Amino acid sequence: MDVLRGLRDGYAPRRQGNPSRSVARSRGHVSARQQQQKFVYDFTEGNKDLKDLLGGKGANLAEMTNLGLPVPPGFTITTEACRVYLESGAEPAALRDEVSAHLDALEQRMGKRLGQSDDPLLVSVRSGAKFSMPGMMDTVLNIGLSDASVEGLAAQAGNERFAWDSYRRLVQMFGDTVMGVPGERFEDALEAAKRAKGTAKGAKGTKGAKGTEGAASDLDLDAADLRQLVTDYKQIVVKETGREFPQDPREQMDLAIRAVFESWNGERAKLYRRQERIPGDLGTAVTVCSMVFGNLGPDSGTGVAFTRDPASGAQGTYGDYLQNAQGEDVVAGIRNTVPLAELERIDPASYEKLMAIMQTLEEHYKDLCDIEFTIERGQLWMLQTRVGKRTAAAAFRIATQLVDQGVIDEAEALRRVNGAQLAQLMFPRFDEAVADSGDVRRIGWGIAASPGAATGKAVFDSYTAVKWSRSGEHVILIRRETNPDDLNGMIAAEGILTSRGGKTSHAAVVARGMGKTCVCGAEELEVDTKRRRLTAPGGVVIEEGDLISIDGSSGKVYLGEVPVVPSPVVEYFEGQMHAGADERDGLVQAVHRVMAYADRVRRLSVRANADNAEDAARARRFGAQGIGLCRTEHMFLGERRELVERLVLADTDAEREEALGALLPLQKADFIELFEAMDGLPVTVRLLDPPLHEFLPDITELSVRVALAESRKDANENDLRLLQAVHKLHEQNPMLGLRGVRLGLVIPGLFAMQVRAIAEAAAHRKAAKCDPRAEIMIPLVGTVQELEIVREEADRVIAEVEAATGTRLKLAIGTMIELPRAALTAGQIAEAAEFFSFGTNDLTQTVWGFSRDDVEASFFTAYLEKGIFGVSPFETIDRDGVGSLVRSAAEAGRATRPGLKLGICGEHGGDPESVHFFHQVGLDYVSCSPFRIPVARLEAGRAAVS
Ligand code: PEP
Ligand code: MG
Repeated sequence: MDVLRGLRDGYAPRRQGNPSRSVARSRGHVSARQQQQKFVYDFTEGNKDLKDLLGGKGANLAEMTNLGLPVPPGFTITTEACRVYLESGAEPAALRDEVSAHLDALEQRMGKRLGQSDDPLLVSVRSGAKFSMPGMMDTVLNIGLSDASVEGLAAQAGNERFAWDSYRRLVQMFGDTVMGVPGERFEDALEAAKRAKGTAKGAKGTKGAKGTEGAASDLDLDAADLRQLVTDYKQIVVKETGREFPQDPREQMDLAIRAVFESWNGERAKLYRRQERIPGDLGTAVTVCSMVFGNLGPDSGTGVAFTRDPASGAQGTYGDYLQNAQGEDVVAGIRNTVPLAELERIDPASYEKLMAIMQTLEEHYKDLCDIEFTIERGQLWMLQTRVGKRTAAAAFRIATQLVDQGVIDEAEALRRVNGAQLAQLMFPRFDEAVADSGDVRRIGWGIAASPGAATGKAVFDSYTAVKWSRSGEHVILIRRETNPDDLNGMIAAEGILTSRGGKTSHAAVVARGMGKTCVCGAEELEVDTKRRRLTAPGGVVIEEGDLISIDGSSGKVYLGEVPVVPSPVVEYFEGQMHAGADERDGLVQAVHRVMAYADRVRRLSVRANADNAEDAARARRFGAQGIGLCRTEHMFLGERRELVERLVLADTDAEREEALGALLPLQKADFIELFEAMDGLPVTVRLLDPPLHEFLPDITELSVRVALAESRKDANENDLRLLQAVHKLHEQNPMLGLRGVRLGLVIPGLFAMQVRAIAEAAAHRKAAKCDPRAEIMIPLVGTVQELEIVREEADRVIAEVEAATGTRLKLAIGTMIELPRAALTAGQIAEAAEFFSFGTNDLTQTVWGFSRDDVEASFFTAYLEKGIFGVSPFETIDRDGVGSLVRSAAEAGRATRPGLKLGICGEHGGDPESVHFFHQVGLDYVSCSPFRIPVARLEAGRAAVS
């Protein structure tokens, strides 16, 4: 067990860094690892906590087996075996023997051998990584069937059609997945067979898998048709690969296992991992499970179910059932499913059993579970369970429901939701008043699969979705049904609309996982992907490029663009809606409660980056506990720019004094408003930071103006002076030039004016018996000497204001830590600073040497694609580099000054993952833009209980 634990820890997910590189780094100890490792676990051996090793599917099958639930016997090949394969290109030496031993045991138990010709044991070989990657990797069912054993299966089952149907599925899946035959070849042959059948039968109006009129359904194909299809399929395999479909069952199984390993690095799996930030070095486990059959006739079937509604969180069981079908038919939307409730009528005994099992699972996992099951001639089998994916709204509702039911506590409820989900709930939604008014035309109504309001141009294939979105268009991807190859298009689209498939279809599951708006199964819409058009009832036709709107919360589909309104969750935070007053299905209530849990446990305070009273007031409504960053440069824009220009151009002290004198009352008025909005809470005012040329006219424009004037011989003296000054101040690299504290040191009186404005504003508020709590922050400090000089002047100005107003102000003076040198000498800087606020934007820029204004647009895509990092370090703190400087500077600062207040005000302050890091390194607060405050509060709470 210790060995297992060690391995698990060794492969704990990392969010940053290059997955493929770490595989390469570990090459050295492969053989040692292989020697001591057990690569195959029977379902009776593992448990749900071994997901790192057995993958989610394997671990949960083991758990269900241990719970005594009806799981077909089988075994799991570990992710470790997959990693060895991916590293070395070969299965671990011991794997074959281990698989043989487990297969022997399975054969003994089942009383038949794999592929035995008179009564074959058949198995499924399925992928299953630690994190669910729906449909992104490979699976092969019915392994063990061959020309010989298909007859045995037919005899045993007393059903020839079933045996040939199973065989044709094997050749199709194996051909596609293992041998690399393009899937359409098989689909075309199947379509042709169905069409021929339809024509022969004169079938009319029945819809085949693709909805083709006049064709038969796959259920109309009889044993002879399917036998012929197998022959056709085998010929396709030979034609496409030059090889025969293997008849040896063990060879089938070994090749399928290898194909599953390889599918970890398939393009769609890689893309999905990038999208979901799943580390690339985990590998997949492989489960080998004895087959049970849902395609044995009408008393058989297969289904997917949820213990609660994954879309809304409403209590009750949900799911889809498909009679006489196998495996992935439900998810793929091949035929239309019936709601799970129908099963009660079709097979009451199995239904009852299923309900009992679902209850057992929910109680056991203490969460919403999703399951896959098969009924084989009235016998229910569980093929998979996992804690199910859900929408953001459902996550909040379910977490609070479970608290109410006494199943989990508040801390656990916090672990069950996250900031990304909360952010999603804060997106605007369609204006119902307009949407239902008749001003816009509703053209269809499907299943509300994944919430949100999305408008865009209709596109009918993933290629166009990607192409158009790259050129800046918003698109809605419209398909009959999606499959894993649509992943690129789904990522690119604003929303996804399908005409087939239920809440558990591929489109629904993947969209929900991505937090992307999706309406599925809008059956009244005829989707014609070949002609790139959608026809709605009443003859409305939407061509590629036409605007369409979909509402993933109601399932409604509209022609054209529907206006959006703020979400009820934002209204709640704004204080316009009170929890309990208008609960909108309990969502606001649930958010309110979860936020209260977070606020109760979090250690980090949350402040706002705000520089005007309006933003400050909103931030306060959103729960900000002060302002962590007021960027005063934002107060010098507009008409005040001219005053700054005068200050910069001043030749004499008198001119400078005059310019400063004009700025002072304006600044003071700004601060009075700000302190009023944040009365009683800290307001950190940062003195002027950006490069000064930002306040001056553009050098090119001015040069042209002067040149033109000169050519007309009417150049104006002022413009000439201005041009000279602009030339003098021009910098090649302004971000590393005259900005921040350097400005304060170079332009006499600038910082003193700002400090005076702050102090006088604070005194003014005090005189009004209010509670201003200003803090003065110096930007871009690289050495303590800079800070000492500025500080000395600031202390003097504050003392003057105190004396003049007779008010004791207690203004703390601190600094930003946003240069590597500041971080490295934080111990010295803390001598002169009462607080630090980490400016992680500039710190990231200077530690990496990445221009924050340029790199994300220029080469980050290439870096992300190469796996150099999984996410931009400007978005999520780079723990190893920038983060380690933050950690050491915090420690050094506190070593010098034990009570030193520590905050962060870079963009990372509102990033969920970064908030956890700042909690871990012991900062006192994070500061972020007002709209991110609820997310930061929630994540700070989650960090405290994680
Ligand atoms: C920072 O550098 O992280 C910061 C907050 O300052 P600014 O973004 O204004 O440079
Ligand atoms: Mg900065």
